[in-house]
Amino acid sequence: MLIINSKARLHYRGQGLYQHSGETMSQAATLEILRQLIGFDTTSANSNLELLSWVQNYLEQHGVNSRRVYNAEESKANLYATIGPQDKAGVMLSGHTDTVPVTGQHWSVEPYQLSEHNGRYYGRGTADMKTFLAVVLSAVPAMQQARLHTPVHLAFSYDEEIGCVGVRRLIDTLQNHPLKPAICIIGEPTTMQVVTAHKGKLAARVTVKGKECHSGMAPLGVNAVNYAARLISWLEQLALKKQTEGPFAEGYDIPYSTVHTGTVNGGTALNIVPNHCEFIFEVRNIADEDPHLLLAEFRHYADQLIAEMREVDNNCDIQINIITEYPGLSTADDEAVVAFVRTLTSSSERGNINFGTEGGLFSQILGVPTVVCGPGSMDQGHKPDEYIEARQISQCEAFMARLINQLSH
Ligand SMILES: [Zn+2]
Repeated sequence: MLIINSKARLHYRGQGLYQHSGETMSQAATLEILRQLIGFDTTSANSNLELLSWVQNYLEQHGVNSRRVYNAEESKANLYATIGPQDKAGVMLSGHTDTVPVTGQHWSVEPYQLSEHNGRYYGRGTADMKTFLAVVLSAVPAMQQARLHTPVHLAFSYDEEIGCVGVRRLIDTLQNHPLKPAICIIGEPTTMQVVTAHKGKLAARVTVKGKECHSGMAPLGVNAVNYAARLISWLEQLALKKQTEGPFAEGYDIPYSTVHTGTVNGGTALNIVPNHCEFIFEVRNIADEDPHLLLAEFRHYADQLIAEMREVDNNCDIQINIITEYPGLSTADDEAVVAFVRTLTSSSERGNINFGTEGGLFSQILGVPTVVCGPGSMDQGHKPDEYIEARQISQCEAFMARLINQLSH
C-alpha cells in the first residue's frame, strides 16, 4: 500500500496519459463489452451466471483465471480474479453485476439493448454499473501487457441492489485468504469523483398481531392498524429528532440520519377490527450513529405497546425483523487510498453520495481501505431510459490507463 502511494506521486502524468490512452485501449472495445453486458437481464431476481460465463470466457481468452463464489442455491455467484502477481496485495476493482428491475417504468428505448443517441449510451445498468465493469474488462489486455508489479483484483458481485447481499460470501472467502487486497475502488457512479463516505442502512419489517372482532365491539378487540400507526408515528418523531438534534455529518445533502416508513399493509374490511398490520421502515445512518441503538429504543417502545395489547389478549405481539443492513463508508481523508485514487482522476473534487455501496462491508468487515469512484451518475441510475455519457466512459478509461501505469512502472 505504501509502495502504491509513493509510486502514485512519482508517476502521475495527468492528462497526458489520457491523450495517449488510445494506444492501449479503445472505446470501441469497451462499448462492445458494454453491449454484451447490457444484453444480459441481470435484474437481482434473476441469475447472473450467464453474464459471469461470458466474463469468465473473455478473461480466459486473455489468460486470466477467475473463480466463482456461489450463493447457497448456486444460482448466482461473485467473480474474483487476480491479474498480475498472485502473491501480492493489490488494487481491488469492485462492482455489482445485478441491476434494478424495469418493471413499471416507461422506457422509450429497449432496456436490454445498448443504444446510442447524442453521445449518450442507453440501457439498464449503463450508469449503475455495467459501464465500470466494461471499462475494467476492456483494460484487461493492457493490464496483461503491462506486466504489473502490483496486481489488480476483480471483484464482481451479485445481489447488491437488494441490500449488498451477495458480496458477503466473497468477503467471507477473502477473510480466509492469506492475502487481502491493499485497497479497494468501488466503481459505482460518482461521475469519476473520489467519494470517501456514504451512509449505512438498516431496514426492518414490523408485524403487529392484534385481536380480531366485529367493529361494533371494537373495545373487545386489539386494533393492529392502530398499534402500527403508533409505532410509525414514533418513528416519525425519531426522524424529526434526528433532523433537529443530529448528530450531523458534513458533505451530505441531508447531513443527519434519516428514518422513513416505506409501505404499510393491514386490515381486511371496515367492519372488522384488524388483527394484522405490517410495515417496513429504514434508517440511513451517518457514521457517528449506531442504527442498532435506535432500533433498541424502538424495541423498548414496542415492548410497552405489547404489554398494553396483552391486557386485552395474551396472544397479541409485535415482531421486528431486520430485512437488510449494511454499514456506511467513512474513509478518513488522510488514508493513502484517497490520495492514490485522486491521482488517477482528472478531478480534485471529492464528496459524499446519497446511496449505499458494498464499500462499507469491504472497509469495516474486511479492513480494506475503500473509496468509491466510477463513471456515470446516479441521477440516471434506477430510472427509465438510464444512460451514461460517452465522456464518462473516456474519463473512466483514462483512469484505468493511469492505474495500469502506476502499477507497472
Ligand atoms: Zn449500484
